[in-house]
Amino acid sequence: MRLGIDFGGTNLKVGVFSDDGEEIIFNEALIEDIRNTNDLLQDILEYTNHIVEDYNLNQGGFAVKGLVNKESGILESDIGLAKEFSGINLKNAFGDFFNIPFLIENDARSFAWGEWLYGAGQNSKVMSCLTLGTGFGSALVKDGKPYEGSDSLGGILGGHISIDKNGPECACGNRGCLELYCSATALKKRLLNDLPELSKESDPVKVFFENIRLRKNSGEKVLDDFINDLAIGIVNIVHAYGPEIVVLGGGVMESDDIIIPRIKKIVSKRAWTVPRGKVSIVKSKLGNRAATLGAAFLNEAQK
Ligand SMILES: [Zn+2]
Repeated sequence: MRLGIDFGGTNLKVGVFSDDGEEIIFNEALIEDIRNTNDLLQDILEYTNHIVEDYNLNQGGFAVKGLVNKESGILESDIGLAKEFSGINLKNAFGDFFNIPFLIENDARSFAWGEWLYGAGQNSKVMSCLTLGTGFGSALVKDGKPYEGSDSLGGILGGHISIDKNGPECACGNRGCLELYCSATALKKRLLNDLPELSKESDPVKVFFENIRLRKNSGEKVLDDFINDLAIGIVNIVHAYGPEIVVLGGGVMESDDIIIPRIKKIVSKRAWTVPRGKVSIVKSKLGNRAATLGAAFLNEAQK
């Protein structure tokens, strides 16, 4: 059996899967709820161990937000929570603790790998995957392998494609990055700015889409802006990589009934003739389990 762990911006997901991808157990917790000490890594190891101790594991993987050096297992740089692992050899830490071979990968690439193996992208030749979460993740699977480019960052920086040269400055050094407009965080910010009445809701994004469905508010303009920005990002990615399928993931995609038809309309208008007619744009099939499953199968990505 295989262990997959997905450490995102706010949640930790732990899954055990059979060697053919069947889910044995899956568990999700808020990072703040698993913190017991000042050592986040130790807290993660103990929390995970508590869930998986009865299973006979033969390999595992850790998906983490940020830039990962797979050889050293060290997280090269990041902001926020993942910074707490800076300089730690995660591959050894997990491998030694669970006494199994362990691999480390960027969370969006793990997500894409899970979707390619067992989700929406199965058997596709070129699949692009975009995840709208705390940040905006992206990854590409090409010819049955996660695409890494020359420096292992290939495909994962789609959130830093600029859609406005005069836009706000991004932490990456660029301006007007897609992530600043289309992550789930950015969408929430737009909503609270333009529709302040949503600020009293515990989940403003969910209520916003619900209202759109019921044609209950004046949110169409915010929706159009968000969809337009996201579609422009997708057109850029389609033009760059020529995927046959673009898989969209993240909690926002629970409203795929509203998002996907609108995206398709703009992509079919803006993309070059051939990809326009061919590319399929779909919601993730594995949802919040994709990166955990992908992480559990990282050794397959190396074959
Ligand atoms: Zn950026």
